[in-house]
Amino acid sequence: MKIPKKIIILGIPYKVKLVNSMTKTLKELDITEEEGDKQAIGYVLCKNSMILIDRKTSQETQESTFIHEILEVINDSLELNLVHRNISSLEASLYQVLKDNKLLRS
Ligand SMILES: [Zn+2]
Repeated sequence: MKIPKKIIILGIPYKVKLVNSMTKTLKELDITEEEGDKQAIGYVLCKNSMILIDRKTSQETQESTFIHEILEVINDSLELNLVHRNISSLEASLYQVLKDNKLLRS
């Protein structure tokens, strides 16, 4: 999968940024880690309409994290109130389906 620089989720455009240091980037954006998604490798900043993904992980992890952050946005937008464990299960399942059916072309 080619992770795009921008993605529209339910009508709202989000910037997607691959970052070298999550901690540093969050600090630069003046965001405390609690405000974002509590995943060291991925963050969704709803206020800033931005998804951050750690560049220093494998391509697979980046792709899976990208899906995870999309699910976070959907969960938030539709007020699904999924607990984080559910989001992670959906992430892993959806990623596996896409991968097993060779839908993750780069
Ligand atoms: Zn999460």
